[in-house]
Amino acid sequence: MRKIYLIVLAVFAIGIIVVGILIFQKSTNQAKQNQQQSQQPVVTDNNPSESDKKVDIPLVRARERVTKKPFGIKISPENSPVQPERFLGYHTGVDYEIFSGEENTDIQVFAICSGNLAAKRTISEYGGVLVQECNLENQAVTIIYGHIKLASAKQKVGDYITKGETLAILGNGYSTETDGERKHLHLGIHKGSGIILFGYVQSQADLANWIDFEAHLKSN
Ligand SMILES: [Zn+2]
Repeated sequence: MRKIYLIVLAVFAIGIIVVGILIFQKSTNQAKQNQQQSQQPVVTDNNPSESDKKVDIPLVRARERVTKKPFGIKISPENSPVQPERFLGYHTGVDYEIFSGEENTDIQVFAICSGNLAAKRTISEYGGVLVQECNLENQAVTIIYGHIKLASAKQKVGDYITKGETLAILGNGYSTETDGERKHLHLGIHKGSGIILFGYVQSQADLANWIDFEAHLKSN
């Protein structure tokens, strides 16, 4: 009789061990799977397609990105579509916004034309800024790419950059890379070869020194 008890007990104990092993294996497999998933890069279609390159856009899906501040909009702290606002004047560039969910995604910025890199610096109002010398609409211009993560820009001042080439990624929102602004691209085009970095001018007449990139895209 005692022998039977022992056998039942042994079978029971073995059963518990087997079940335990199975549960352990399942949970480690699950952990491995989770690890693999978190190691996978976030899949984003953030490379320029051939049609993107043809129209020289600065970001993937640029046309779909809501432009809170189009070219020439008169901004004041009271009326600005961006709150809180610290700027005042006529916007000299076009702002390209990120889509929701892109806050922690690397957003590549592409050169909209071919020409040398003229400046690469951190300044107030932009954070990181790249300036490129180009020819656009049959004249010398400088292109301002504002709110950039400079550490991601491989090119040096003086380097020739080809249209469509990746310049850098957007700076992290509300950091020194954007000088505390939201994550977005400010694209300004100033006529002439001087490095003029105003994001705003104080009279509408002064906008004549700047080119509206959206209008440029439509006419080309
Ligand atoms: Zn702007």
